[in-house]
Amino acid sequence: MGIQAQFTFMGTGGSMGIPMIGCHCAACNSPNPLDKRMRPSGLIQVADKNFVIDVGPDFRMQALRLGVEKIDGVLISHAHSDHIAGLDDLRAYYFLHKSKTPCLLSELTFEELKQRYPYLFQPTDDKKSVTAQLDFRVLPQEFGSIFFQGVQWVFFSYLHAEVQVTGFRVGNFAYVSDIRYYSNQVIDRLIGVEILTISVHKKEATEVHFGIEEAVEFSTLIGAKKTYFTHLSHDFEHSMNTQLPSGFELAYDGMAVFFTIPKKDVHGN
Ligand SMILES: [Zn+2]
Ligand SMILES: [Zn+2]
Repeated sequence: MGIQAQFTFMGTGGSMGIPMIGCHCAACNSPNPLDKRMRPSGLIQVADKNFVIDVGPDFRMQALRLGVEKIDGVLISHAHSDHIAGLDDLRAYYFLHKSKTPCLLSELTFEELKQRYPYLFQPTDDKKSVTAQLDFRVLPQEFGSIFFQGVQWVFFSYLHAEVQVTGFRVGNFAYVSDIRYYSNQVIDRLIGVEILTISVHKKEATEVHFGIEEAVEFSTLIGAKKTYFTHLSHDFEHSMNTQLPSGFELAYDGMAVFFTIPKKDVHGN
């Protein structure tokens, strides 16, 4: 018995989104609404709390579409543009609630954000709030678990080209984005996950992303019951779902999946 929680895919596209500007391939031209993919992001709802994983350049439209009017915490996987370029739009929540948005991230991601968005770190007059008001919570190490906004999160790290990425697990659900190379420690943290969300950018692996085959292998190592692919490029049309092995599915924008969190992992329950 645990607490029911929900994950909603806010965006399931890769860094360019689908359709890509100027591309006329089958996926980019597809009339199927499930082939319109915004940049990768997700919404986790547990008890009365909303958590967002990654805040990319499409964040505003995603938040409007799902009616996200309150965010209790943001989790950031890494500081590539497709995952953080919407951070400034979080200032809407400061206007609404007059409190800073807590953001959980690794130390390396924190340092990278300082380089990319120095103005987010300058002291400002909160009342004017010309930029997002963010309360950064830096993870103390590369692997571990932490209570963040009343919920227990397991976090783990792996490399995506030169960049360190943080993956997150909560209850029997995990969100693992932008992964290609990983250590056994990552697998250890994911044993027991039943619902896995993982990035697969193209059908074949690239230097920095899993292809289908590697993602299936990874999921099998963990023993996930259900695996959803996200961060999809125009290699994928939703209709290709039927070609995937059973237990694997292409996610789509707005798709919701359900999972459970042990009671002890949620404060106030
Ligand atoms: Zn295309
Ligand atoms: Zn990415």
